[in-house]
Amino acid sequence: MQSYDIIIAGGGMVGLAVACGLKDSGLSVAILEQGAAPSFTPQDPLSVRVSAINRASQRLLEKLDVWQDILQMRASCYHGMKVWEKDSFGQIAFDDGELGGHGLGYIIENSVLHTALWRKAEKLSHITLIPNAALVQTAFGDNETFVSLQDGSMMTARLMVAADGAHSWLRGKADIPLTFWDYKHHALVANIRTEQPHQGIARQVFHGEGILAFLPFEDPHCCSIVWSTEPQMAKKLSLMDESLFCQQLAVTFDMQLGPCTLSSERKTFPLTARYARQFASHRLVLVGDAAHTIHPLAGQGVNLGFMDAAELIGQLIRLQQEGKDIGQHLYLRRYERLRKLSAAKMLASMQSFQDLFAGQHPLKKMVRDIGLTLADKLPGIKPQLIKQALGEHDLPEWLRK
Ligand SMILES: Cc1cc2nc3c(=O)[nH]c(=O)nc-3n(C[C@H](O)[C@H](O)[C@H](O)COP(=O)(O)OP(=O)(O)OC[C@H]3O[C@@H](n4cnc5c(N)ncnc54)[C@H](O)[C@@H]3O)c2cc1C
Repeated sequence: MQSYDIIIAGGGMVGLAVACGLKDSGLSVAILEQGAAPSFTPQDPLSVRVSAINRASQRLLEKLDVWQDILQMRASCYHGMKVWEKDSFGQIAFDDGELGGHGLGYIIENSVLHTALWRKAEKLSHITLIPNAALVQTAFGDNETFVSLQDGSMMTARLMVAADGAHSWLRGKADIPLTFWDYKHHALVANIRTEQPHQGIARQVFHGEGILAFLPFEDPHCCSIVWSTEPQMAKKLSLMDESLFCQQLAVTFDMQLGPCTLSSERKTFPLTARYARQFASHRLVLVGDAAHTIHPLAGQGVNLGFMDAAELIGQLIRLQQEGKDIGQHLYLRRYERLRKLSAAKMLASMQSFQDLFAGQHPLKKMVRDIGLTLADKLPGIKPQLIKQALGEHDLPEWLRK
């Protein structure tokens, strides 16, 4: 039976980040990933799964020494943001002028982030990476947890990390209850060519029945779109004749970048809010989508997960230095308290945004148009919004060092 200090279930972006961050901690880590190792080559066409990565996540990726690899693979810096309400006067726009033109964030394909972190993990001697691992059983003992895989192998650890995504198997095995609600939106993602250049600006329109974002790629005429709308509508859009889809897309987008053409497949994802009632228990801790999922309207899901990773890394390093048992719930409570608070705040603000911008009632429309205009014009508000967008208002201590 193999023994490790930590076993991480799920070698996605967040699980890998946790493992890489424990490099100098003296802790041994095994990552059990049910899928194969990710691969990326520069010849690959642009993927439809992308993430808007904020400054705080960039800091983490720099600290993990993968940021340069990511930039070399493929990443697009965006310098401005524009949000507006369709067919009305309400809008807000900001740019990175006050930040010295260094960008508000990056649009990065998930395959690039995943591959960079995986390659890093492969090189680190404290990590044992096990792809194609099928977990079949787990038990939480007083001093250790036990895991068995379908191939008959067994292993133990002092702590297990559930980084196995929204439908976390490990969360289920630990009987951790989940609060969840349906956003009644499905997100349609695709890559689009536009007649007019995007100028490095991420744009988002609220159009009553949904939310449509155009996220700029390096190519000035190419964007990734995330179109969140009612499930029936999303299905219709995903099956619609290509030229009709592009027409509808350009019209919904108020023709901001002119006519569009589709340059990829269209994929849809149901959107559900999830919030695990506990982020930690005896010999278990939850990170990333295993702990929470949120609406992608502010592009914050993996950013929140990366901050879980940063907080957990800091706490585990401290516990190890102090000679404490890293699997004791008592010692994991600090992580749990801090990250539950951040996730709850994020879930609440996504819900208020979705509620505020849903529907076309004239009075509600006027209130939000005035709100957007005031936020755009009143002094002092934009710097706060930029700070939120950068994610640096809520930095875990480990990232501040
Ligand atoms: C349409 C859409 C757009 C989004 N846009 C953004 C954005 O712009 N910015 C942003 O920050 N976030 C965004 N998100 C959210 C983001 O994609 C997720 O938050 C992120 O992928 C979560 O990462 P994770 O590592 O926690 O989980 P996952 O990416 O789900 O990884 C979990 C890993 O665990 C593995 N696994 C699962 N079960 C098991 C098991 N039983 N045993 C072993 N391994 C297992 C899986 O194979 C996977 O590799 C978006 C989400 C959607 C749906």
